[in-house]
Amino acid sequence: MINTAFHQELRQSVRSICKKYPDAYWRELDERRAYPEDFVNELSQTGFLGALIPEEYGGSGLSVTEASIIMEEINRSGGNAGACHAQMYTMGTLLRHGSEEQKRKYLPKIADGSLRLQAFGVTEPNTGSDTTQLKTMAVRKGDKYIVNGQKVFISRTEYSDLMILLVRTTPLDQVKKRTEGLSVLLVDLREAVGNGITIRPIRTMMNHATTELFIENLEVSVDNLIGEEGKGFSYILDGMNVERILIASECLGDGYWFVDRATQYANQRVVFKRPIGQNQGIQFPIAQSYIHLEAANLMRFRAAELFDAGLPCGKEANMAKLLAADASWEAANATIQTHGGFGFAEEYDIERKFRETRLYQVAPISTNLILSYVAEHVLGLPRSY
Ligand SMILES: Cc1cc2nc3c(=O)[nH]c(=O)nc-3n(C[C@H](O)[C@H](O)[C@H](O)COP(=O)(O)OP(=O)(O)OC[C@H]3O[C@@H](n4cnc5c(N)ncnc54)[C@H](O)[C@@H]3O)c2cc1C
Repeated sequence: MINTAFHQELRQSVRSICKKYPDAYWRELDERRAYPEDFVNELSQTGFLGALIPEEYGGSGLSVTEASIIMEEINRSGGNAGACHAQMYTMGTLLRHGSEEQKRKYLPKIADGSLRLQAFGVTEPNTGSDTTQLKTMAVRKGDKYIVNGQKVFISRTEYSDLMILLVRTTPLDQVKKRTEGLSVLLVDLREAVGNGITIRPIRTMMNHATTELFIENLEVSVDNLIGEEGKGFSYILDGMNVERILIASECLGDGYWFVDRATQYANQRVVFKRPIGQNQGIQFPIAQSYIHLEAANLMRFRAAELFDAGLPCGKEANMAKLLAADASWEAANATIQTHGGFGFAEEYDIERKFRETRLYQVAPISTNLILSYVAEHVLGLPRSY
């Protein structure tokens, strides 16, 4: 069921928080490449970032459909959920595969925001999308793993207490399948930074606190292994459908924000003695973006509905992410064009959102990899890599 009374209420509650963080707030942070601490704190304290944590562990126990509405509304307000979206879903690996002891230890604190688990260390500089080839190695010595390696584009490590880290525990040449021998460790960044992990921030075209990690003889207790050793790849894959659905929702939020701004501006701006929106050359790209957003929105809800029902949703989650990222990018282009020169002026926020939404063609999974997933796994075409 979409658009229930509860969904409307949820949208209103998120909107009322977002109202306190207007365009100027995000613009100023963007200029300084600073982290939205106040916004993230408020969103944690009000329980929104603990949406997916079951009530028995102190969370709100909401569905992915509802969580996706929260993310959409943040971006629809002009904000950027990318600053904290991972606090919502990264804990899924712990929730689904952690021991009862680990869950009791961490989830209630993640739910109330006193502990941040919003760093997720998978990507490496030399292996990129080819995840199973990753080189970061954890070798067991007694009751510890000694970890060495390097990660890149690991976001929010400077603003997170914990990190989910994907490492190889059995060398590639000793496993039957390349997906075997990878493990998930829960790293306490409060202890690890300066004691095995060095963080180097990477300045990007938008305000996204992403970093490079150098890992040298990092010691992690075996108690922090999540699930079984060697099965980590499947645990990470497990969480990816939720990530895709939530990112699709952020793209939808961006897209609707763009369409609203473009429509308002096209109605107001008068050139050649009439509103520019009277010209079909201006109207059509906005209308086209809106149509594509509405279609992507249906796929988002379909994917979320399947996930919430415990049914396979890999196809729909991937398609929703691709459709929504394309639609938001199309809307971004239409909006900058509608604004003419003002689209490039910082004070209009269009150029900021334009930079922010561009990311989702590449991360957390690039468009090509989604196309190849659909080609191979849905259509049965030959594997290309
Ligand atoms: C701002 C930002 C934040 C990020 N945050 C995180 C994070 O928190 N944690 C994390 O683990 N990662 C993170 N990432 C990494 C992100 O997931 C990767 O950048 C993304 O998956 C692509 O990997 P890559 O950059 O190594 O590109 P590559 O794998 O090197 O690919 C480069 C290009 O080649 C294409 N390509 C590669 N192989 C094929 C193929 N077989 N067929 C067709 N095309 C192909 C890709 O689609 C891409 O367009 C982040 C990235 C950015 C930019």
